Amino acid sequence: METYMDHAAARPVDLRVLEAMKPHFSESYGNPASFYSKGFEALKALNEARRQVASLIGAQDSEIVFTSGATESNNLAVIGAAQRYRKRGTRVVISEIEHISVINISKELTRQGYEVKNAPVDSEGIVDLEQLRELVNDDTVLVSIMAANGEIGTVQPIEQAAKIAHDHGALFHTDATAAVGQIPLDVSMGFDFMTLSSNDIYGPKGVGAVYVKKGLRLKPHMIGGGQEGGLRSGSENIPGIVGMGKAAELIGDEMGEEAKRLAVLRDKLIEGVLKAIPESYLNGHPTERLPNNANIRFSYIEGEAILLSLSDLGISVSSGSACVAKTLEPSHVLRALGLKHEEAHGSLVFTLGKSNREENVEYVIQSLPGVVKRLRAMSPLTPKELM
Ligand code: PMP
Repeated sequence: METYMDHAAARPVDLRVLEAMKPHFSESYGNPASFYSKGFEALKALNEARRQVASLIGAQDSEIVFTSGATESNNLAVIGAAQRYRKRGTRVVISEIEHISVINISKELTRQGYEVKNAPVDSEGIVDLEQLRELVNDDTVLVSIMAANGEIGTVQPIEQAAKIAHDHGALFHTDATAAVGQIPLDVSMGFDFMTLSSNDIYGPKGVGAVYVKKGLRLKPHMIGGGQEGGLRSGSENIPGIVGMGKAAELIGDEMGEEAKRLAVLRDKLIEGVLKAIPESYLNGHPTERLPNNANIRFSYIEGEAILLSLSDLGISVSSGSACVAKTLEPSHVLRALGLKHEEAHGSLVFTLGKSNREENVEYVIQSLPGVVKRLRAMSPLTPKELM
């Protein structure tokens, strides 16, 4: 049975979103900067999308800057804030389990002379607030903690993290790519900057946004004609932005019901797999996790081998973040939980979404034990009693 459970890597575009986008390719194709009707139409569509995205997170329209996706949003927010407010201090604090884009941005900031500190997480993937408090000092310009981790699903105590940053006069950014549309998020929780992505809410790929709190600025890295309030120059991707706006509106209306439905499926999947397979363990927090995420590790075998066997059965899952799938390094997220190399390698990430039904979950629960057993039988590490 075709079973797609890798929504953290890519999601289908909602057909209602696609419909909303269609006229903006070949009919209403104007540039919002132009002074004639096609330009006015494009400007109206851009304004409407900005309103829709702002409304999803309780922001004002003028606080939304459209980008090409979450990676660009993280670059703009984190580098842009650190550089714009360098006079406030040169320390930047992130968590150990940020997305690879933020991790690599922090390395770039180190090269630029900033002092980057990584706040550790506990064995369930929750940022240690005590340690965070110790790392944030009066020389800290920015704290960046993700709202939730797409790989292990852990939802972070970001309101408290934001407060810790603000207590020291630092700014607070959250990468909400994995969390938005799954858990309620509102900028009144204390965010100065926030990263959003369109595809993660069933919008098109290649579009994202940054929330920039009114009164704050960022040093732009895309220099040009001054679009998006001067923060992101370049003619706007109107079809994509319209798609993101529509996706934001739909997810805002439908999120509550869908999150409840997915959490039931997620728990059934976790329970079913852990019960059916000896020496299988849940990675991440048992309750503080995204409604669509199950990350499970299996001793003695490699995640990639399981993926290929499952793929033959029509099941699409992941062994970690798709963004670093080609590196063969064990996931930095799982390593941060304290897992050994070999433990981190034997993990599977299931991320559920709209197309998943109970039958899909049952199919995975039925298929997985045989696959794991067969691979364990081939592994020299497997103890005899599990063969
Ligand atoms: N941040 C987080 C938390 C993510 O999960 C991802 C990947 N979906 C990104 C950033 C990067 O997104 P993109 O590849 O769309 O730029």
